[in-house]
Amino acid sequence: MAKSFSAPFSGGTEASNLNLLLACRLLGRFWTFVRPYRGKFYLGLCLILIAVPLNQLALFLTRDVTNKALSSSALTTDQRWSTVIHIVGLQIVFYLASAVLSTWREVLEWYGGMRSTLDLRLAFYKHLHRLPLSFLNSRPPGEHLFRSTTDMTSMFLVRGRVAVPGAAGQSPPDSKEVAMAAYSNDVDPYDPGIMGMIVRTVPMIFETLYALAWGLGLLFLIDPILSLCLLIYIVPFTFLSARMFDKIRRTAFAYKEAGENEIAVLRDSVGGLRTLKAFGRLTEQLRKYVHAATVTRRRAIRQAYEIVLTQNVLQMGLKWIFSLTVYGYVTVRVMKGQASVGDWVATFLLIDSAQAPLENFVQLTQLTKMQLVPAQRILHTLDVQPTLLDRPHAVRLPRIEGRIGFHGVTFGYSPEQPVLHNLELTVEPGEYIGVVGPSGAGKSSLIALLLRHYQANSGKVTVDGEDLLDVKLLSFLDQVGAVPQTTFLYSGAIAENILFGNPFATLEDLEAAAKVSGVSRFASQLTNGLLTEVGEAGLISGGERQRIGIARALIRDPRILILDEATASLDPETEEAILGSIDLLRNGRTVLSVAHRLKAVQHCDRIVVMDQGRIVQIGKHEQLVVEPGLYQSLWNEQTRDLGMLAEADR
Ligand code: ADP
Repeated sequence: MAKSFSAPFSGGTEASNLNLLLACRLLGRFWTFVRPYRGKFYLGLCLILIAVPLNQLALFLTRDVTNKALSSSALTTDQRWSTVIHIVGLQIVFYLASAVLSTWREVLEWYGGMRSTLDLRLAFYKHLHRLPLSFLNSRPPGEHLFRSTTDMTSMFLVRGRVAVPGAAGQSPPDSKEVAMAAYSNDVDPYDPGIMGMIVRTVPMIFETLYALAWGLGLLFLIDPILSLCLLIYIVPFTFLSARMFDKIRRTAFAYKEAGENEIAVLRDSVGGLRTLKAFGRLTEQLRKYVHAATVTRRRAIRQAYEIVLTQNVLQMGLKWIFSLTVYGYVTVRVMKGQASVGDWVATFLLIDSAQAPLENFVQLTQLTKMQLVPAQRILHTLDVQPTLLDRPHAVRLPRIEGRIGFHGVTFGYSPEQPVLHNLELTVEPGEYIGVVGPSGAGKSSLIALLLRHYQANSGKVTVDGEDLLDVKLLSFLDQVGAVPQTTFLYSGAIAENILFGNPFATLEDLEAAAKVSGVSRFASQLTNGLLTEVGEAGLISGGERQRIGIARALIRDPRILILDEATASLDPETEEAILGSIDLLRNGRTVLSVAHRLKAVQHCDRIVVMDQGRIVQIGKHEQLVVEPGLYQSLWNEQTRDLGMLAEADR
């Protein structure tokens, strides 16, 4: 558990290896999703261009208020009042305009972020469903879900807390907040995560640098040495903050990992208490827990130290040294008459306003680095070539008869390790074929090829003589009904689950499919019949679930019905009842039934016996059971087991 969660976050080191070039390339790839909203994006940047100077000029005007009105003895009181009203009025107009423009820009950013995130999520979702099963199966099951949700959202900034130099009253988040928010699993699915990086973080970085440039310029007007001081301060501050922030981030990863590990040990202890007691292993488990808890505590303390060190010693300490130096320098100049009191006031306002963007800058670049890791993971999936795509000249299949052919088919999940060897098999329309063989013989692989989940390495699979790779897949799948070993039930009513097979079916079709598959029989016992919600129907038994699966396949009125171990998990009586109903509803359809238990295919027209990826026997049950070979030995084995079971029952 701890591993599955920590793996996606291993980006701690990954992130630091990402260089600027890669960042630009990734941003370029995701720009596709922002392009439809680029008008708003550019407008947002233009608003920054106006809002930042307005805010900075408003601060700068304080110099004039002080010099011309507050500390001027050359003017009369009325003249001073009039000056104050004029300049302060102008400052208010500048502040207000800057605030309005910043708000407008934020609205645009959120709009662009939300819309492009939705587009990205939809594109990702569509893509995921068209990916080769070989890719999907090769990854841990939770990964695709993780990429579709958390990866797209978790890396967003602490909302609204990053100081926007143009908007008054916002303070930057502290390092802990950023670290915790960035790694929190508690994400809002509508946060414009990765897209936020483009529509929000990048403009913020631009805004920060732009605001710093204005701050430096205005300080230069007051005294060039002051802007030089600020420039000198920026270098160690940025460098040291970035290093400490990196450290805190790594410790936050480690702390989170340790916390998850501790919970995993605790869960094992509580869940497996009976076993622990029965095996007398309580002491060992306690030792394990103490160790896990100690590691968590150590890492928590380390994180706290690092945060305190960064905030108090580094950020505040450096800030104080810088502020005191500037304070001393400007005060001495004022005392010597080389600078005005207005210069003194404006200097501190400008220095103060430059510090917030500076802190922001460090955090924003760090956050962008972190956002690049999930961005890379998402691209990794998006770059996999879909296989469900039809060939350019694929033809639409008309209603088929149901003839299936495997012609010299060789297939392997990896080409160098074939699991099917040179298969030759023709199934006539309306035939009921059983496919049997020991585990690993290749039965499911055969079905997977027929459903075009994979492509053969050589040879071809045909339907009514057409190469399956040359037809439009959906025109074929529309004529196939498949029942897997365990039917997946979607949330919703039983009827909805059946209609999943054919949303355009009529009420009569629905009732007929439910009747012939035996769903009606158990649904009639429920209060709302077929309209009962799957969740409300109580515990749906394996047999009932499979009946719904059969109804779902039948409602498609398929020409080919595939049963892939459809009754394998059921008890013999239920299996017999279900197989009985399948026999009834063949109705000219070709049926391919893969089974482990030979009883399930006993009545088939022909039985295909597979072993180690090859067809070793084909024939009727009566013929195969007397012919020395694999079928006979499997039959003897299974009937002996059944006999022993019956004996045991007696
Ligand atoms: P059966 O259905 O007869 O039990 P399968 O078709 O499932 O046999 O498996 C045939 C062989 O292919 C086995 O050796 C199995 O390990 C291998 N195999 C099945 N599925 C995969 C997969 N997704 N990736 C790699 N190998 C697989």
